[in-house]
Amino acid sequence: MAGEPVIELRNIYKDYAATRALNDVCLTVDRGEVFGYIGANGAGKTTTIKILTGLIKPTAGDALICGKSILTSPLEVKGSIGYIPESGSLFDKLSPREYLTNIGRLYRLSDAAIKTKIPEWLEYFELADRIDQRMEVFSKGTKQKVVWIAALMHDPEVLIFDEPLSGLDVETIAHAKDLMKRYAAEGKTIFYSSHLIDVVEKVCTRLAVLHKGRLVGVGTVEEMRARNGSLSLEESLMKLWQDQA
Ligand code: ATP
Repeated sequence: MAGEPVIELRNIYKDYAATRALNDVCLTVDRGEVFGYIGANGAGKTTTIKILTGLIKPTAGDALICGKSILTSPLEVKGSIGYIPESGSLFDKLSPREYLTNIGRLYRLSDAAIKTKIPEWLEYFELADRIDQRMEVFSKGTKQKVVWIAALMHDPEVLIFDEPLSGLDVETIAHAKDLMKRYAAEGKTIFYSSHLIDVVEKVCTRLAVLHKGRLVGVGTVEEMRARNGSLSLEESLMKLWQDQA
């Protein structure tokens, strides 16, 4: 349902020793949104994602996924998230069948569901014939496809992407973009972090701009452009960053 908050960042701060990586970040993402999270290198994108996925705790503040706090309900939160990192690590001595079976069990899927889902997803990513090969022989892009499947197999409500298209070929990128649109249309929520503005512009319905740990703009692509009086999103974001410098 549109307008239902699915991801809420509430006054998040994160300090690494003397570095304040996130400074009072407040943000709400609604069900069905493909939400872009943009910032230059070092802006705090990965830190935000690590907090959302439970890898680190905020110094202050809280984040809620589907109404559950990452601080008080971390396991439930993890169960509702699919996380696709820029380049995920796999146990590459295993085959996709072995690796994905273990992932499915971690998410408590039934053996029957695991048995059906693995070949279906491998087929989707055109890897059906590699189901029993050791992944150590796979290219970076092929491994990244398995990372995608591992994140999607448990049918999560929320997908969190950190530069997810890294290493994928043009055809798979087109596939992946379609998949994101399909997921959003089904009412899933996508949080898409990237510094690739052109991709964000194409796939995201709304976006937030992070600069040195602070949110400096939130809105639709059109709103961002209009607010800064520029033609392209890239120009308008450059202007936004320069104004904050
Ligand atoms: P990039 O696009 O380069 O990945 P980012 O937007 O993801 O950047 P973060 O990795 O979240 O940015 O880093 C935000 C700030 O926190 C940076 O100043 C970074 O140097 C600092 N930082 C991140 N992780 C640590 C850490 N483990 N220890 C100390 N400082 C850190």
